Amino acid sequence: MTRGTGSPTDNLVLSGDPRYAGLPDTPPPVTCEFCGAERYTEGIFILGHVMWYPNGVRHCTCPEGLAKHNREQADYEAKKEAERVAEEERKQRERVRRVIGNSGMGERFLQRTFGTFITNTPDRKRIKASAQDYAENFTQQLPKRGEPLPGRNGFIITGTKGTGKTHIAAAIANSLLNRGTAVICMTERDLLDRIRRTYSRYEQDDESAVLEVYKTVPLLIVDDIGKERPTEWTLATIYSVIDGRYERAMPTIVTTNYGATDLVKRLTPMSGDETTADATVDRLIEMCEGIVMSGESWRSR
Ligand SMILES: [Zn+2]
Repeated sequence: MTRGTGSPTDNLVLSGDPRYAGLPDTPPPVTCEFCGAERYTEGIFILGHVMWYPNGVRHCTCPEGLAKHNREQADYEAKKEAERVAEEERKQRERVRRVIGNSGMGERFLQRTFGTFITNTPDRKRIKASAQDYAENFTQQLPKRGEPLPGRNGFIITGTKGTGKTHIAAAIANSLLNRGTAVICMTERDLLDRIRRTYSRYEQDDESAVLEVYKTVPLLIVDDIGKERPTEWTLATIYSVIDGRYERAMPTIVTTNYGATDLVKRLTPMSGDETTADATVDRLIEMCEGIVMSGESWRSR
């Protein structure tokens, strides 16, 4: 039976009430472990008799009794919240599994962990440490209802081939996967190919369902952005995903061979209008901290 909801409080009774005390069904008083006061059980008078609430013993109002009650309330709320978060995470993993496949990552990303990241320079040690810290405290990066937005909560990882930018991004993804957090870590090309597949008549999920997962998964990693030959469609699609995550303040990581100016050019289709490419890169800069494995710094733009 649910306590409180909808029941008229006029009908609320206590087991200490002389009308019911000592009756066979009336729970005996419970002695407060701190002050020795007698604590009574709440019940409801309904249809001519009293129904006593299970676990309805009132907490004591002595300081220790009140403190214990507040602790138990807080534990209860925390447990409920943890259950809610776990259920939400399960649903997110299920959505990714349905649209992308088991892990949300290609095979080649699964091998790239923090353990196999080479730290032969102080810079690489520092980059690894901050990426590990990011992964371990990832929930702080997620926007929460009623709290200020998390600010820059993603990374733009730049560097030429072989500098390990994909490795460090995939290591974050693997670390989150191990913690049960849903992640999508794919190349720009594979992300776009997955949407192209929805145009086939054999495909169950439609384009908007895939886009929705890209926009709402806790972490989206776009590897090698700017590598795909740009068309109006690729640019519009990438902008839609980045802007969707920007609007939701969702953490996003991109890796690219290009600096900001070159990336705008790389995303711009043959028709030549740079406006959308420019807006895409501006969004990324606003959402992401720069990590430079080598090459042009994003901060110099
Ligand atoms: Zn007490």
